[in-house]
Amino acid sequence: MNPSGGASTLEPIAVHWFRRDLRLEDNTALWAAAQSGLPVLAIFIFDKNILSRLKLRDDRRVAFIHETLVKLQSALAACGGTLWVFHGTPREVFASLFARFKVAAIFCNEDYEPYARKRDAEIAALCAQRAVAFNAYKDHVIFAPHEILKEDGSCYQVFTPYARRWLAKFEQHPPVVRGTPPVCWFCPRERPEIPSLEQIGFAAVLSQAPPATIDKALIRHYDKTRDLPAIRGTSRLGVHLRFGTISVRRLALVAHALNEKFLRELIWREFYQMLLWHFPHTVNTPFRSEYVGLKFPGSEADFRRWRNAETGYDLVDAGIRELVSTGFMHNRVRMVVASFLTKHLLCDWRWGEHFFAQYLLDFEQASNVGSWQWCAGIGADAAPYFRIFNPTEQQKKFDPDGNYVRHWLGDPLENPRPKPMVDHRFARERCLHFFSQRGT
Ligand code: FAD
Repeated sequence: MNPSGGASTLEPIAVHWFRRDLRLEDNTALWAAAQSGLPVLAIFIFDKNILSRLKLRDDRRVAFIHETLVKLQSALAACGGTLWVFHGTPREVFASLFARFKVAAIFCNEDYEPYARKRDAEIAALCAQRAVAFNAYKDHVIFAPHEILKEDGSCYQVFTPYARRWLAKFEQHPPVVRGTPPVCWFCPRERPEIPSLEQIGFAAVLSQAPPATIDKALIRHYDKTRDLPAIRGTSRLGVHLRFGTISVRRLALVAHALNEKFLRELIWREFYQMLLWHFPHTVNTPFRSEYVGLKFPGSEADFRRWRNAETGYDLVDAGIRELVSTGFMHNRVRMVVASFLTKHLLCDWRWGEHFFAQYLLDFEQASNVGSWQWCAGIGADAAPYFRIFNPTEQQKKFDPDGNYVRHWLGDPLENPRPKPMVDHRFARERCLHFFSQRGT
């Protein structure tokens, strides 16, 4: 694990730094590393700066990464490579690699989140001091945040025109999917073990992530099944897009051929990535300036009832149970649950956003922040504050047989439900009044 010590190797090498691109196939930076002609050392860093902020010891995302690294290690071994996994801060790890090996270049794929941008700037600066090339590539998205802009060069703040432009560009320049690159691997003499979850401070749990397979039949019918939480009508590929265990290019090409609605969801993902890149302050500040400084009057006691699945609204409570037990919540239910917290209870959207961020296996900061602001009516192109979901009506419409709710809450005769914590009509009026005093 610790690269320090031992004789320094004088052969110039490249480092491929795996982050959210945990696959060999169609990996842009890995192709570039292969084409550099240098022997390539593959590394992954369990970043202490990120891990120290995680609250749950049984965090499923960490387990997912660990499971994936084990698979990646065997895939690399099969083609003559090895993966060196570190536990430290990127600065420490690279300083130590530079002391040990003659690193000529680092290859990695771009990550657009605020922390990642800061981290990469720091490592690029470290590289500059040592005359090491730092090469970052677009891989996580079809179009990087600066690639879809209005005629005047400014960025879109409304989804529909963004999506139109995105699609036109996609059709003009469809992405190319490549296989696994022919890399000349550099394998240091020692073959360190991947540290266990316990060694990096986490409990040995299983992520229970769905497989990284593209189900074409599901995608073909997605527009008809996507809103029904009781069935497997969505892809569950969020976690794989997040950690790069599938290629977004491959998925987008399938979606383009089979289902417009599915492709549109991938565009939403890039819309949110683009917004967070241009407006990083929106991580904890409303996008719409008229709501900056807005104090949500909802109480912590109400937030706790929501978080403990005790609101008395079955669809909301079932959604929270699904999230906490599996790390997943269906999109339709996410919308109702988030709307309930921010509009019925008038609780701060950041409380909900943080709660989701702790539990979601497919947590993406850009999508989570953007969607929470959308639901709360304070984001770019958000649902307006006067659109307030009625959780009972939503349940009738999208879980008409009650199968989803029964699955998560049990039979109502055996598991009596609490009374609704707030009357829908009262909450609706209160919300309209609250926002109409502040918004436009
Ligand atoms: P599918 O329906 O099969 O869609 C395929 C992919 O498209 C998804 O995996 C995802 O990458 C993307 N996608 C789908 N819907 C959206 C959307 N509305 N916005 C952005 N991307 C979308 N998505 C996340 O990936 N991470 C989050 O942290 C996240 N937080 C959310 C919080 C709230 C309050 C809401 C309302 C939505 C959130 N979403 C988030 C969006 C959406 O709910 C999930 O992407 C989707 O439910 C994941 O399930 P799936 O993989 O089966 O998606």
